[in-house]
Amino acid sequence: MNILVINAGSSSLKYQLMDPHTGEVAAKGLCERIGLDGRLTHKAPARGIKVEREIPMPTHAEAISAVLEILVDPENGVIASTDEIDAVGHRVLHGGDKFIQSCIIDEACKQAIRDCIPLGPLHNPANLMGIEACEKVMPGKPQVAVFDTAFHMTMPPKAYRYAIPTKYYEEDHLRRYGFHGTSHRYVTRRAIELMGRSDIRLVNCHLGNGSSLSAVKDGKCQDTSMGLSPLAGVPMGTRSGDIDPCVAQFIMNKYGMTADECLNMLNKKSGVLALSNGLSSDFRDLEAGAESGNEACCLALDKFDYEVSKYVGAYAAALGGLDCLVFTAGVGENGPNTRAAICRNLGFMGVKLDPERNQVRGKEALISADDSQVKVWVIPTNEELMIAQDTAELVEK
Ligand code: AMP
Repeated sequence: MNILVINAGSSSLKYQLMDPHTGEVAAKGLCERIGLDGRLTHKAPARGIKVEREIPMPTHAEAISAVLEILVDPENGVIASTDEIDAVGHRVLHGGDKFIQSCIIDEACKQAIRDCIPLGPLHNPANLMGIEACEKVMPGKPQVAVFDTAFHMTMPPKAYRYAIPTKYYEEDHLRRYGFHGTSHRYVTRRAIELMGRSDIRLVNCHLGNGSSLSAVKDGKCQDTSMGLSPLAGVPMGTRSGDIDPCVAQFIMNKYGMTADECLNMLNKKSGVLALSNGLSSDFRDLEAGAESGNEACCLALDKFDYEVSKYVGAYAAALGGLDCLVFTAGVGENGPNTRAAICRNLGFMGVKLDPERNQVRGKEALISADDSQVKVWVIPTNEELMIAQDTAELVEK
């Protein structure tokens, strides 16, 4: 079976053609600069193919056409015809509180995604463009939407409600939603398999350029660090994370910024990038800086480790204890120093790493010491596989 997984952004579109049953990726790539000029990077790993092409992409429809053309290209492609694509799975950022799971895309589903645009103003319109482009280029092909918010919809009201007047919840749907849900769902499923039981108290640390944590009990999300938007929670590459709203008010008043300008600063110019005095949002650069004695880099890393540890502690309290801690995404999978610092902070809770096991990068591994009270795992995330599996399941039904 072949599922085409699409992650459409405003000017880019990532794709993978994969077998949902084996997880094998036949081809993957990226369309960039949609609406400007257009560039396609395409790889077929098993055939050692990597191609880069300039292709005009005025809209997402031309981008999808370019993807289909290269997938069936006799020289660089991996299928003979687009008939071999069984279905398309789309990553969709915001499902509001309507979607607790993935769904087949029909008019009602598209309208619901449209209704969530006020909640996901940057991503949902782009996701819709990707869906409509596929409809145009592959009419009648089954399509499925997989929502970044869906996994978190099991949170209880005490976790998702903000302590603000009720009308903002009832009329405007302002609440904690949480993101990276497909990743949290994937690592949760793996952690349950690896631990051999589902009744575990689990905290997932998805630490990448964007970072979020989730508290999970019996496989169900109980709390998560991102909120109405992905700006909330721990400090990230360029996002501030949790902040007193009065900070925004002060800056807007003093520097004559609009709300949008201030939010742009908090989303794109803050986080570890800001704490390192603009040096980098990339943890490799920050570690190199810290090693050469740059104090701002040390502070940026310290602050990140500190805030992640605080969230794990809070979530252990929310879950009534902790059986399993999972690290995933770019930094979680590849950053032994970050993992070690966080776990050192959590030593009082019986978290103990095995320093040698912790050297692992990008591979699934148990990294806690044998006498650790909490099992600590590195689990590489695979959101595309999750999307492909949901798509296959719904289409096969
Ligand atoms: P993601 O958003 O999941 O792609 O993660 C991107 C982040 O992962 C960047 O800050 C990278 O610096 C970080 N990362 C990737 N590889 C490594 C590595 N080998 N060591 C430390 N951080 C890494």
